[in-house]
Amino acid sequence: VDQQTIIPADEAQDDLSAIDVACLMLSAISDGLDHPELWARVPDFLDSYPQLSAVLGEMLEQASDPAMKIALLVLLSMCGAGLGQAELMRNTLAPVAADHSGSPLVQGALFYLDSLLDPENPKYRLQGKICATPFTRIDVLEGSSHLCCASWLPTSVGTLVTASAWQDVWNSEAAQGIRESIHDGSYRYCNKTACPIIQENGLHPASTLASQSSHWADILSNARTVLPVGPDLVNLSYDRTCNLSCPSCRLVPFAADEQQRASFDAMQEHSILPLLRDAKFVYITGSGDPFASKNFRRLMTQLTADEYPELRFIIMTNGMLFTPRQWESFPALHNRVHVLKISIDAATGPTHELLRRGARWPVVLENMKYAGELVRSGAIDGFELVFTVQSENYREMGDAVDLAREVGATSVYFGMMTNWGTFTPEDYRAKAVFNREHPHFEDFIEAMQDIRLQRPEVILGNLRQFVATSAADTGASHRVAASLGGNSLAYSV
Ligand code: SF4
Ligand code: SF4
Repeated sequence: VDQQTIIPADEAQDDLSAIDVACLMLSAISDGLDHPELWARVPDFLDSYPQLSAVLGEMLEQASDPAMKIALLVLLSMCGAGLGQAELMRNTLAPVAADHSGSPLVQGALFYLDSLLDPENPKYRLQGKICATPFTRIDVLEGSSHLCCASWLPTSVGTLVTASAWQDVWNSEAAQGIRESIHDGSYRYCNKTACPIIQENGLHPASTLASQSSHWADILSNARTVLPVGPDLVNLSYDRTCNLSCPSCRLVPFAADEQQRASFDAMQEHSILPLLRDAKFVYITGSGDPFASKNFRRLMTQLTADEYPELRFIIMTNGMLFTPRQWESFPALHNRVHVLKISIDAATGPTHELLRRGARWPVVLENMKYAGELVRSGAIDGFELVFTVQSENYREMGDAVDLAREVGATSVYFGMMTNWGTFTPEDYRAKAVFNREHPHFEDFIEAMQDIRLQRPEVILGNLRQFVATSAADTGASHRVAASLGGNSLAYSV
């Protein structure tokens, strides 16, 4: 079913029953993606088919398949919103969304309900705005590739392991579909509540981008989905080898075996090295630690300034191995690091060692100070501390900003923790302190108003929504919590 034309406006609606319409809607959303154009039409459907909600309710009672139940809950929420109960539906869908934090369908439905509750907020208006990411970036994972961070845009565009040329993945059918969803403003593949750019209202009008270059003017005026040039940014996240085994990331330590390393080596030779010829940035790595991985270590020596003069590095590490000796052994990195990111998830030793299983805080602290020296001497351009927020560490966010200054970091990034499949839904719910159903949500909101989080070096990403617009407001945290549509009684003091 073409979701744009699920029921053509000129079709004789007498021919369809409420059951037909329910089935058409279910079919349209069976791809697991967001369908804002469908949500917008639900009030019309309810006018024409007053039994629609009852039919969907009966279907839900009889459904046994979990995916079908979720789809029906989403549709029922939209019907409830169409009947003027947007806030109630938002609160009803919220626990489902907490358990399906990676689902573009569920998160998109939640985003739509939020948009009804806060209609003046420009972040909810995506039509006519363009996210450049799927036109400029590829993330290479072990068995898939993505045109953005995989936790915000989970649909794979193919794998470079088996592709005969990287262009086959970069311009695959799936890649074209994703770019089409940016052009049409649906952003249906995106996880809208997790995406920091959407949450920060950071998308720009298409006209702004079109005026920047003839390349963009051509892409936008012709709604191009097939691109003649490769990505600017290549994120290499296929090797999960790491010296640590953090609970949020893996259950047990992992190092690639010989067979995997040979497969990565082959992919690096036939796809990655050619792909990087015209790229501007290479990101190593979101999957493990670059200094623990033999494959990434090899790659970092191959990407010399002579062979790749335009290429700049974004290095993401847990910092344990980032010693002066390691730095000296990778001359290809010298004066070519755009930003060095050290993920710490804490501002104190006990929390760090709890969340970074296997790490030793004094060592990381020492290595962070060394990174600070490198940035001061100009050997690297930027140094960022990365802090993934969860129930164990949210009280240390403000102190992490102080720590960043102390060690000489140039920025500090905060983001919500994602469930990469390591947690059961119950365990994730207990960690996801940023969900309003969490028992410490109000305390978390209070912590988000820490004045230190307002410093210019702080990047709040998808957590910005939890900051009151004026931090000087008295009782700001309570108003933020209330404005988020939660139970206003619980947050009014
Ligand atoms: S998830 Fe966000 S950053 Fe990624 S493509 Fe979508 S809008 Fe862009
Ligand atoms: S340091 Fe990063 S890659 Fe390594 S186990 Fe921890 S979260 Fe995963």
